[in-house]
Amino acid sequence: MTRWALGPLHDVLDLIEFQSLSAQDALAEWRTTSERPFHPGLDHWTEHAVRGYLAASEQIPAVSGVPQGEPLEPVSRRWARQRGSQKPADPDWYEEMVTDRRYAGHGIRELRVARKGSVTDSPRDEAEIALAVGVLAGGLPVLSSKWEKKRLTLGRSEPPRLVRLVEIGCADASHRILFEGTPEEAFARYDSDVRARVDKMIAGGSYRPGKDCGRCDAVATCPEVPSRPGLLGINDSDGPLRSWSVTTGRSYRKCPARAHLEELFLPREDPAEDSEAVVRGKAVHAWIENRHRRTPPQPCEPDDTPGSAEEWRREGWAVTGLQARLGIQMIGDHALVCPLRDEPDSAEAHPEQQIVVYDPDADVVVIAKTDLLYRVADRWTLRETKTVKALSKHDLLEEYPQLALAVLMADAGVLPGGGPCAVELERLTGSGPVVTDLEAAAPDVIAQARLVLTEYVASWHADSRYPTKPGKACEECPFTRWCPDAAERTDT
Ligand SMILES: [Zn+2]
Repeated sequence: MTRWALGPLHDVLDLIEFQSLSAQDALAEWRTTSERPFHPGLDHWTEHAVRGYLAASEQIPAVSGVPQGEPLEPVSRRWARQRGSQKPADPDWYEEMVTDRRYAGHGIRELRVARKGSVTDSPRDEAEIALAVGVLAGGLPVLSSKWEKKRLTLGRSEPPRLVRLVEIGCADASHRILFEGTPEEAFARYDSDVRARVDKMIAGGSYRPGKDCGRCDAVATCPEVPSRPGLLGINDSDGPLRSWSVTTGRSYRKCPARAHLEELFLPREDPAEDSEAVVRGKAVHAWIENRHRRTPPQPCEPDDTPGSAEEWRREGWAVTGLQARLGIQMIGDHALVCPLRDEPDSAEAHPEQQIVVYDPDADVVVIAKTDLLYRVADRWTLRETKTVKALSKHDLLEEYPQLALAVLMADAGVLPGGGPCAVELERLTGSGPVVTDLEAAAPDVIAQARLVLTEYVASWHADSRYPTKPGKACEECPFTRWCPDAAERTDT
């Protein structure tokens, strides 16, 4: 199954630009000749993205001096430049390349970068811009194949008189010109913004494990991602490398297609506003998280709460009335069970940590988002915090599968401290706070955690089609726009 949301877009644009097909014919050609199967949701998205890209391209103003009706021509070869000396073993030698969509003519080189979402207000990455315009100004056409792993073979070409970098938001056909200038101006931008970043990357130490590990071929040998065969209890690594989190598991239960479209990172729409209780829960979480980020660590105090709905608003949360009062009470209650209250001087706290582990037996990257990892003296603990109206009588591991994952991660020794890490649940309720130690090292708890997790993971892992499950799941799904079956819901 195709797993890069912009891959088919580029395949279709290649057919339009290099084989002169219309958009409609190119989409039809891609659908019949694509080497990899693709999800119907990806099909819908690709058609939308192609039309968005073409519409945005038409809106880009011509560079001054370019005659009307003589647009730039698409360029099939990538552009690259090689830095450092040409000696084979030079450790400072590296290559810089631009991919995406390339155009040239009238002494101009232009790169259009396709983004999934809107580019109207998206943040700018100045180092990425400087790198791209440096290659546009000084690059040469790449002659070697995309799949060759050795040094690139570069051809010749005339240096441009002007370079331009544009980004295009495929979801809403938006565009933004990021840079337009002479090669000298491009090199100046490169020198000021890129040098430091590239030096840092060459020196190493810039691994950032996260959601992208699920599509990284090097994850099995990454020094920052521990490998734990059998973590998920699945022995079948024949499928493609994928990533799994508790969110994936929950989404898959609601609708297999939704879990897949999440993995593709397709643009989302928020289908409905959060309920007041959900907003209150998020606001309480954010307040406590901010208190735990203080350095040096300080325990939360019972009176350090938002005093009023107005104060909630200043923090960016629309919490009013009963929910505001309940939220204030819950934050005050947290102070009674704050993990930093007893020995703040010997404690450290890491709110909202992401733990990434690779399970080679399942060929899956497991990503856990934890509410809080903290240490008091030499004891590490993972704490999940939930705001609930009342305590439920359900099995805690079943009710909160992230706890089951936490127990298995503690057992696998991938949580901080290297040794046993405790797992606990803090529930802030209408009638007071309750902290439960899950006894993560007990064999029967580990067995139960394994049972719970297998139920979430096994059917997802065995699936390669991700069928849609239209119905109730569509009501809160952010991907109905791209789903071929969601219309059934809105029509009935
Ligand atoms: Zn606290």
